[in-house]
Amino acid sequence: MAVARRTQAAGGMGFDLWASPHFLVVHRRQIQLEAFWRGMEDGLSEIRTWGMRGCVVLDAVNHFGPKHGQAVLDLVLPELPAFVKGFSTGGLERCPFRDWAPVFDRARAAGLHIAAHAGENGPGSNVQDAVLEGGVSRIVHGIRADDSTLALLAERRIPVDVCPSSNRSLAPDVDPHPLPRMLLAGVRCALGTDDPGVVPCDLNTELTAAGDMGLDDLALARLRRNGAEDAWCLAD
Ligand SMILES: [Zn+2]
Repeated sequence: MAVARRTQAAGGMGFDLWASPHFLVVHRRQIQLEAFWRGMEDGLSEIRTWGMRGCVVLDAVNHFGPKHGQAVLDLVLPELPAFVKGFSTGGLERCPFRDWAPVFDRARAAGLHIAAHAGENGPGSNVQDAVLEGGVSRIVHGIRADDSTLALLAERRIPVDVCPSSNRSLAPDVDPHPLPRMLLAGVRCALGTDDPGVVPCDLNTELTAAGDMGLDDLALARLRRNGAEDAWCLAD
């Protein structure tokens, strides 16, 4: 299961969890949908006892194409649990985001926030395309974005989840890591863990990695604050 998680800050702490029901229920046939949701609900109840909140973001695989995205929605929309707050593409950035726009529109009409995994294993132009052609309101990674795209992200106050461990493993050519440049450009970056099952990490390793890039305490605090202010689990 693809899982990313964030976020923490003063006033609350929570996790936006990327989860892939279609992959496990239909593709792998490992679990029934009801049992999948029950597991998610149990986990979210447990973290509430720790004083935290959480929500689920549906993960659809970009390189399976928009048909797969529609199949994810076909599976979950008839009985969508209230703790599902978002829809996102993950996987390899092979399918243009303009082709995903009808899927995003349908998910948005169902009340979901929309994110895209863009600008990590695909070109930086994917970030701009996801925003302008896909209409997404959140980016995961965005590390290949050029200066004009960073300006666009800053102007539209679009949150960008960055996971240095994932980036260094899957996009080692992007060096030095652009997180300081992204923050300097005014982009609302926060730290995330992408899929710790693929590249092991947690929020502490990512905070340490950010500190090792020379970010000062103020910048590290801004990462935490952005994470809390933009987290969908804390939005309402
Ligand atoms: Zn990733």
